[in-house]
Amino acid sequence: MDFSLSPEQEQFKKQVHDFIQQHLTPQLRDEVEREQYSIGPLGKKFVRLMGQQGWLGIGWPQQYGGQGRGAIDQWLFLEEMDLESLPTGGLTLSSAGPTLMRVGTEEQKREYLPKILTGEIEFAIGYTEPEAGSDLASLKTRAERDGDSYVIDGQKIYTSAAHHSTHIWLLARTDPDAPKHRGISLFIVPIDAPGITIRPLATMGSERSNQVFFKHVRIPAANLVGEENRGWYYAAMALDFERLIPHARTQRQLQDLIDYAKNSVVEGRPLSKHPRVRHVLARLAVQVEVVRLFSLRSAWMIENGKTPNVEASILKVFISELSEHIAVAAQDIMGPYAALRRADRLAPANGRIERLYRGFPMSKFAGGTNQVMRNIIAQRGFGMPRS
Ligand SMILES: Cc1cc2nc3c(=O)[nH]c(=O)nc-3n(C[C@H](O)[C@H](O)[C@H](O)COP(=O)(O)OP(=O)(O)OC[C@H]3O[C@@H](n4cnc5c(N)ncnc54)[C@H](O)[C@@H]3O)c2cc1C
Repeated sequence: MDFSLSPEQEQFKKQVHDFIQQHLTPQLRDEVEREQYSIGPLGKKFVRLMGQQGWLGIGWPQQYGGQGRGAIDQWLFLEEMDLESLPTGGLTLSSAGPTLMRVGTEEQKREYLPKILTGEIEFAIGYTEPEAGSDLASLKTRAERDGDSYVIDGQKIYTSAAHHSTHIWLLARTDPDAPKHRGISLFIVPIDAPGITIRPLATMGSERSNQVFFKHVRIPAANLVGEENRGWYYAAMALDFERLIPHARTQRQLQDLIDYAKNSVVEGRPLSKHPRVRHVLARLAVQVEVVRLFSLRSAWMIENGKTPNVEASILKVFISELSEHIAVAAQDIMGPYAALRRADRLAPANGRIERLYRGFPMSKFAGGTNQVMRNIIAQRGFGMPRS
């Protein structure tokens, strides 16, 4: 396997880099550093701009308005964006859109796909419920057919982008008598449909998530995605599209620690001369390189028609735990300075370290917990029975 980039790929990477340099204003940088795992108004504007210039459709097929580029180019794009913590269209673009292409009606494709590519339509993912997280198939939100409509009643939780999205990509139960995986359907629900209430849910990482309540929410039957009672399988398909996981953010997090060690003197001795600090940083650098190669390998597999399966779970566990290792090492190296928020002029890396420490636990849960990922690795990777 040859990991080096072709001249065309190098050229493409430079194009992405130049685009970012042209549009990453100090205000946008400030906002993305503050939001980190969420998106603010300037980030939204930036996504629209990317849409207008065709960047959002890099990996989408040309028949749906995309550029039809391969997985490596897509990976290069995501890496460059991730290095600056910039938004890239999220799961609407990488997960819901590609699922719609495969199972949506022609009318749904015409209505939603072009607007997803321009950043006008954004879905919040409405899967998790208070009693259905890892065991998602236990979800209780009901969608009952009534003539040309469905009527939805129930509750979702951790619906992260609901407060700034246009629609909810919703899983709801349509057949309560069927075995639990087989009675679920997938719907597109306009966020402004009467009967929807959104309440903020604070997280320790400062990211806003939401609770969403549905009370007799009536939507056209045409908003059913694919066939009724096949929603579980479509959601699994949507999750399967989330296999390109960029790692560049860990590279930048490590760089923050390296810069700090190079520029700090403790008790008359430069931190960069301290053997323990050097060893910790070197150990983290090895892990960052491992994750870079592993992430590129997944992109290479997709480019070559293979499906990263257990690899995607390994990558998710490794990246989220690497962020944890970096955050913990920062506490060790920086001492109490690591806890200073960005408003404090002494905060290292403009408060990114403090923000990372509060934010990393979230990445071990969102999109499926690391324990569940480890179960998948044991089951699919080693052929062990379901736990
Ligand atoms: C910040 C954030 C954003 C999120 N955004 C969204 C979103 O936009 N849309 C959405 O639908 N969901 C979202 N989620 C929900 C996320 O997918 C769930 O939190 C996750 O799937 C876990 O479900 P749960 O919280 O109900 O925990 P539970 O499933 O109750 O798990 C509790 C604990 O038990 C462990 N556990 C559970 N089952 C097993 C098992 N079989 N083996 C071993 N350990 C197990 C888990 O690992 C965990 O440690 C988000 C979550 C967070 C934290």
